[in-house]
Amino acid sequence: PDLESEAETDNINVVIRVRPQNAQELERHDKQSIIFPGDGALHIDNQGSNKTFTFNVTFEPEAQQDDVFDHSGIKKLIDMSINGYSCTCFAFGQTGSGKTHTITGPPDVLSGANEKMDNSKMGLIPRSFRYLFQQLDRRKATTTYTIHASYLEIYNEQVIDLLNPGQRKHLSVRWSKTQGFYVENLFVIECEMLDDLQAILEEGLRNRQTSSHSMNDFSSRSHSILTLMIDSEIADPDDPNLYITKHGKLTFVDLAGSEKVKDTNATGESLVESNNINRSLLVLGNCISALGDSKKKLGHIPYRDSKLTKLLADSLGGSGVTLMIACVSTASYNVSETMNTLRYANRAKKI
Ligand code: ADP
Ligand code: MG
Repeated sequence: PDLESEAETDNINVVIRVRPQNAQELERHDKQSIIFPGDGALHIDNQGSNKTFTFNVTFEPEAQQDDVFDHSGIKKLIDMSINGYSCTCFAFGQTGSGKTHTITGPPDVLSGANEKMDNSKMGLIPRSFRYLFQQLDRRKATTTYTIHASYLEIYNEQVIDLLNPGQRKHLSVRWSKTQGFYVENLFVIECEMLDDLQAILEEGLRNRQTSSHSMNDFSSRSHSILTLMIDSEIADPDDPNLYITKHGKLTFVDLAGSEKVKDTNATGESLVESNNINRSLLVLGNCISALGDSKKKLGHIPYRDSKLTKLLADSLGGSGVTLMIACVSTASYNVSETMNTLRYANRAKKI
């Protein structure tokens, strides 16, 4: 009898990833703010006031990239997007908490696509590409697939095409009855094989890095969105002239850092920036919690309040699945941001 509400609770999955201490933190013997009592729980010591959070899946600092790929639920998103659903995986957390490490891996992870590359460091995107093509290969006797990819960045509410850096103009987000929200004039590139997808990722990362050199902290203040559109034609077993078509979508989002910008540094232009960043993360949180409220679910979800949520609307609100990976550090000096991230994650979990 409760099948329906069960399906709803499955709509967004929240997992936590706790990064290991870095070299400086280890050297300083920093105080740790998190202990792990087991069963996905995190116990936070926030200057004497303690709080315990429980999540289905918590990746402790020892967890490796393949553990996250195998146990985060990402494979389910890929399988569903092959089957015509819109699914989104996003990483949330303060700058330095491990979002990019988790979503893409270290920057050189693909560029050295030769013997020197340490495969174990690959993040979710390159692993997902591999898994996707493995799955498609298994079905190729009955199904024809066409894959298109786009890669963009939202910075200060402006959309930048990471696959067309020569484009100086910022792109507009529009809405149409057939497509929903979409980015006008965005490069959308057909990918026939794994190498094509990897080239897209490399190209986008290269352009992302270029932009971060010319602008302070660009990458921590921007959302990057890599989207795969997976279209399939499945032959009808009874009539070879008939086809079933499906249009799935798989999106990876490396969100801007969620930290509060300190008042002292935030003036003028940078204040506008931080407002836009925090605003779109706030809107994202509002959309997620509105979706979780069954009374509101059929009513107003404030997707239109930010470009980020417009572009994620179909996967957040549709029948697909969203995976949120909340990234945190154990260091005491990060404890208030860690608390904020876990609260945000906890709120999303309640869907
Ligand atoms: P963010 O994208 O959230 O700002 P990064 O992914 O860039 O954070 O991580 C900050 C630093 O910590 C990077 O040098 C990264 O390689 C390292 N790091 C993050 N998570 C891990 C992890 N799980 N294991 C090893 N190193 C990590
Ligand atoms: Mg990053």
